[in-house]
Amino acid sequence: MSEVTQRERLKIPRQDMPVQDSVVRGGNFDEVALGFTVELARQEAERCLQCARPHCVEGCPVEVLIPEFILALREGDMLSAVEVMKVNNSLPAICGRVCPQEVQCEQTCVLAKKGQPVAIGRLERFVGDYELAQRTCPLECLEKTSKRVAVVGSGPAGLTCAVDVGREGHEVVIFESLHNPGGVLVYGIPEFRLPKGVVHAEIDYAAECLGIDIRTDHVIGRISTLPELLEEYDAVFLGTGAGLPSFMRIPGINYNGVMSANEFLTRVNLMKGYLFPEYDTPVKVGKRVAVIGAGNVAMDAARCSLRLQTLQAQQDGGEPGEVHIVYRRSRVEVPARAEEFHHAEEEGIIFDFLTNPVEILGDEKGSVVGMRCIRMELGEPDDSGRRRPVPIEGSEFEMAVDTVIFALGTSPNPLVFVDAEGLERSRWGTVVADDRTGRTTMPRVWAGGDVVTGAATVVSAMGAGKQAAADINAFLRGEIAPWNDL
Ligand code: FAD
Repeated sequence: MSEVTQRERLKIPRQDMPVQDSVVRGGNFDEVALGFTVELARQEAERCLQCARPHCVEGCPVEVLIPEFILALREGDMLSAVEVMKVNNSLPAICGRVCPQEVQCEQTCVLAKKGQPVAIGRLERFVGDYELAQRTCPLECLEKTSKRVAVVGSGPAGLTCAVDVGREGHEVVIFESLHNPGGVLVYGIPEFRLPKGVVHAEIDYAAECLGIDIRTDHVIGRISTLPELLEEYDAVFLGTGAGLPSFMRIPGINYNGVMSANEFLTRVNLMKGYLFPEYDTPVKVGKRVAVIGAGNVAMDAARCSLRLQTLQAQQDGGEPGEVHIVYRRSRVEVPARAEEFHHAEEEGIIFDFLTNPVEILGDEKGSVVGMRCIRMELGEPDDSGRRRPVPIEGSEFEMAVDTVIFALGTSPNPLVFVDAEGLERSRWGTVVADDRTGRTTMPRVWAGGDVVTGAATVVSAMGAGKQAAADINAFLRGEIAPWNDL
C-alpha cells in the first residue's frame, strides 16, 4: 500500500460506519453502530498521514500509539495492530465505542484542520473487536509477589488499575458493591451503545489471565471499611465513581413518575428491565417522557425511554408516545458525544432547547401530569466558559408529561468513606488526590476516576487507574518513600 501518495490519501473520504436503520432500532436494544468491515477499516486507515509528530496521541488521555496501530492495520498485520494498541489501552473495544473522540484524538488529528479527521475511534473499535474474537494478545504477568492490593469499584478506573497491578505479579482483589462488575459500563451505558457481552468478555479475560479475584455484592463502608482493608492489604485503590444523582430543587420532585437517570438506567440495563417478562423486573415509562439535561446520560435515558415505549406499543397495539430532552442551553452547548446526539435526533427524540423546568405538576394521586417550564436565553459566559442561561421573565408555560427523568450530573456516593479518617475530600465530595500519581492524603490509599474528578469519561478514568497503578507498583517495589506529602 506504500505506493499511495499523501496527495491521494487526502482525497479519500472519511468512511461512514454502517448503522441499524433508525426506525427499526427504535424498537430494539441491539447495537446501533455496526462496526467497520475489513474493507472500510483498510480504506479509513489509508487516510492517516503518519505524521512525524502525531498530535492525535496528545489528544488521547491514555496516549494510545495511534499512527503505529493504524499503520499495522492498513498493512494487514492485525497481530501487530492489537499488540501496539494494548501497550496503553487494555479496553479498546470499549473505548472505540464510547470515547468522545471528536474532542480528544480526532480533534487534534491534523486532518481535522483541513476537513474530516481520521475516524480513529472506529478503527480502535475494529482492532478491539478483532482481539475479542481472536484473543491473540494474552495478558501476561511477572513472577508472583507476596504483595496484596485491594481495588474498590470495578468501573474503568478500578479495572485498569487492577490489570496493571496484576501484571506486576501482585495479588489483586476487586470489591464491587453491585452484582455485576463493570461500573457505568454495565449499569449506565445501554446495550445498544455498548453490548454487555463486550464488557464481560474484557473483564473475564483480564480476571482469567491475571487471576484477579472479583468479589461482587461487597459494599465497602458496610461489609468492611477502608481502615479494615488497610490491615489486610498493602495498598488500596479507590475507583468508586460518582453514582449519587443530583436533582433540581423545584417543587414536585417527589411525585410518582419522577426519577434519576441513574436509577432508570440501572433498572433498564443492569436489571434487564427491557427484557420483561423474560426478566421479572419491568420498568414503567409513560407516553410522554421529559428527560432534563443533554449529556450522554440524558441521551441514554431518552433513547431507552423511546425503545421501551415502542416495545410497549408493539405489545398493546397503542401509539408509542413522545420523548423530550429539555435543556436550558442551546444546541451548540449540548455536551453529549456528537454521535449520540445525532442518533437521538434520527430516532425521533424531540429537543426543547433553552427551556428549564420550574415546577413538576401532579394529580390528586401524587402522579406526574406535567411540568411548568420557563424559556431561557444565553447571557455572558460563566466559569465553565459556556454562555450562562438566563430565564426570560414572563415566559412560563406548561408541558404535559407523565414521566420526568433527571440527568443533571452526579457526585461520589459517600458510603465508602465510613471511618476513613484523614482522607481529604473537596467541597463537592470528591476525593483529593495527586493528579499524576493518584495518591490521597491517607497513607497507602490511591484514588482515580470519577470519585476524584466528578462525572467525566471512561478513558479519563482509565488514565487515572493507569497512573495510580504505576505509582502503586513503584511503592510496592520500594522505589519511592512510604508516603509523601501531596
Ligand atoms: P464507575 O464506572 O462509576 O465505577 C465505579 C464502581 O464502583 C461501580 O461499579 C460502583 O458500583 C462501585 N462502588 C461504588 N461505591 C462502592 C463501594 N462503597 N463499595 C464497592 N464498590 C463500590 N463516558 C464516556 O467516555 N463516553 C460515554 O459515552 C459515556 N456515557 C455515559 C453514560 C452514562 C449513562 C453514564 C452514567 C456515564 C457515561 N459516561 C461516559 C461516563 C463514564 O461512564 C464514567 O466517567 C466512567 O465510568 C467512570 O469510571 P469509574 O471507574 O471512575 O467509575
